[in-house]
Amino acid sequence: MILAVPHVAARAAYALADVTGADGTPLLSLSQNESLRPPSPRAQAAAAQAVSEGHLYPDPDWTDLRRALAAQHGLAPEAILCGAGSMDLIAALARAYADAGNAVLIPAHAYPFFRTAAQLTGARCDAAPEDVAGVSVGALCAAVRPDTRIVFVANPGNPTGTRLARADVVALRDGLPQDVLLVVDEAYGEFADHLEPPVFDLVDRGNTVVLRTLSKAYGLASLRVGWGVFPAEVALQIRKVLLPNNISAVGQAVATAAVSDAAYMRETCALTIEAREACADRLRAAGYAVRPSHTNFVLLDLGTHARARDVAQRLQDAGLVGRLQDGAGLPHALRLTIAPPEVMARAIPLLEHCAAEVLR
Ligand SMILES: *Cc1c(COP(=O)(O)O)cnc(C)c1O
Repeated sequence: MILAVPHVAARAAYALADVTGADGTPLLSLSQNESLRPPSPRAQAAAAQAVSEGHLYPDPDWTDLRRALAAQHGLAPEAILCGAGSMDLIAALARAYADAGNAVLIPAHAYPFFRTAAQLTGARCDAAPEDVAGVSVGALCAAVRPDTRIVFVANPGNPTGTRLARADVVALRDGLPQDVLLVVDEAYGEFADHLEPPVFDLVDRGNTVVLRTLSKAYGLASLRVGWGVFPAEVALQIRKVLLPNNISAVGQAVATAAVSDAAYMRETCALTIEAREACADRLRAAGYAVRPSHTNFVLLDLGTHARARDVAQRLQDAGLVGRLQDGAGLPHALRLTIAPPEVMARAIPLLEHCAAEVLR
């Protein structure tokens, strides 16, 4: 047998939700935080032209996409790097700044891919305590060790749904050593952009990266497009690690058109927030503990692992799939994406109906 290197051989494959039922039929997914509606019609129209040039390699510098993102957010195009989803950028950051001799630090209930990305470099992954209120700046700063190289924080958080205020993110940066790279993953940033000014300016300090994705609010999960704002020196290193031509021309064209149709994205966010609050209200009225959320999902706290599994099974029996959160250290919790109205119209009554039984 040919052996993989130990830090790869020791890992399990990254686990995604299983969206196929026992008999092989697809389940309606509330498990991957996909958008409740398809991409903007403008974005859809952009795909055909790109396909007609499918024999050519894509733009390795994402020129049009960076220009559109820079214009929308008031940023310099050179400060932006794009990835095949933001997972591509998370993995590249881990590869460039961590290895077997050091450590990555995350909050206790962080997005599980941070840990995977760290472990695939051979680095140690440390976790700082986190309570129901959300990420604790103090706990993260206190958990920094001499060999900590990167701190990954999703804001708003997944699966917690909680959000650090801008002042807290600044306090986190101020509280970390200058030579620790802070990566703020804003995969759900668009769902909270109306609350406060963004934190892109922290990138100017030279040791902070802010990531975003087209997978959530823009509804392009299938196209695999993420982006981030990087200090020049970090960008230089990350470009060495990213595969050349990492985003297809179709992905770039669709993403560029989607970013240029910000009104559609904002409407998606408004629809999502309205549906999320309506869902949370109804589930709370039925007796469930639903955490406040700043994202396109809600997190049900069922109190015990057995109850969380019970609710997940009842959903699955009805052809619906939520996401248990054992992987994020929340075995008593079930995450439900705010899905299209017709899916919510099945999920919510079902949960209301079984509340008395499962919450006993
Ligand atoms: C969904 C998600 C991502 C990954 O998004 P892609 O851009 O599709 O790779 C990254 N971070 C968090 C916190 C997420 O929830």
